[in-house]
Amino acid sequence: MAEINRAALFFEPGKPFRIAEFPIPEPAPGGLTLRITRSNICGSELHQWRGDGRLAQAITPNGRILGHEATGRVHALGEGVTTDWNGAPLQIGDRIAYQYFQPCGRCRNCTRGMSEACMESFKIRSGELDVWPYTRGSFADYLYLHRGQAIFKVPENVTDTMVVGANCALAQVIMGLERVNVEMGDRVVIQGCGGLGVYACAIAKERGAETVIAIDGIDDRLALAAQMGADHVIDFRDVTDSKQRVQAVKDLTGGLGADVVVELVGSVAVINEGLRMLAWGGRYLEIGVFFTGTSFDCDPGRLVSLNQRIEAVGSYDAASLQRAIEFLGRNADRLPLDDVVVDYPLEAIDQAFADQNSGLVKRASLVMT
Ligand SMILES: [Zn+2]
Ligand SMILES: [Zn+2]
Repeated sequence: MAEINRAALFFEPGKPFRIAEFPIPEPAPGGLTLRITRSNICGSELHQWRGDGRLAQAITPNGRILGHEATGRVHALGEGVTTDWNGAPLQIGDRIAYQYFQPCGRCRNCTRGMSEACMESFKIRSGELDVWPYTRGSFADYLYLHRGQAIFKVPENVTDTMVVGANCALAQVIMGLERVNVEMGDRVVIQGCGGLGVYACAIAKERGAETVIAIDGIDDRLALAAQMGADHVIDFRDVTDSKQRVQAVKDLTGGLGADVVVELVGSVAVINEGLRMLAWGGRYLEIGVFFTGTSFDCDPGRLVSLNQRIEAVGSYDAASLQRAIEFLGRNADRLPLDDVVVDYPLEAIDQAFADQNSGLVKRASLVMT
């Protein structure tokens, strides 16, 4: 077990990370201290690293600690914490998945059952590095979890490698496909087969989709998408023209188009194409572009006349994380859930970002030892 609390500091796009040491946060009543075992690089962090959109101006001279898609073991329990959010007894050393933000539970949106739209959720992510709880991101050895952050024990048959993507990518996809109500018989297109994309193939099938079509341009992403449940893949290196890709989706859906298209590339450049893939009454789900300051072409008259809608999801409720853990437990022996990530030591964080950025790896996973 690490006795120091190392963390990777991010300063600005284009600058390397720096590893620094911090105190291990003591747990306050109602919270707990987690020893991080692994932490993935999420697409949203790739946007920060590249400086996409307005993120190009996001400069922190003293550095800040990124990282949120992670898993770990209970290091210390705060007063009064005896169970997870399923009521299962919780002990030091237990492996857990956690909600990486903290809905307040008492604002207007939380009260109306929309905790994913709580405006207080991300306050715990900001604060001075020399003030408790110090390390507020998971690119660190230890992380403090506050009262109000949902926590779930990880079933024994689910490895750390499987569960590490649960608290962002997987829960996010589960919330998103719920939001656009993917249901039995739906034809679904997944744009982009990184971590979220391959999960989306599996969850769409789990919800009863008749046909799942995955689009990407990297061999092992397409292969994993197929193993996770995609019935068809479109390789954009072969089908290079946008019109041809739209036609390919029509051809695979009886000429009608898709009931649901999900954007998981993280690029505004694919949105218009995705909208044109929709059938009458279709739903477009935007998740990938997790930064502001861009725009895309949209024909509102087409949306109106074809009775289509656009939805967006940027976080998730506690039930989605609960479902994510249950999904992993149910499918651990059936799906290649261990194959989503590629490992790097924390010290290799710059390389990990570079490799994920270039598409060399689906999702880089920093392993804390
Ligand atoms: Zn994320
Ligand atoms: Zn709230």
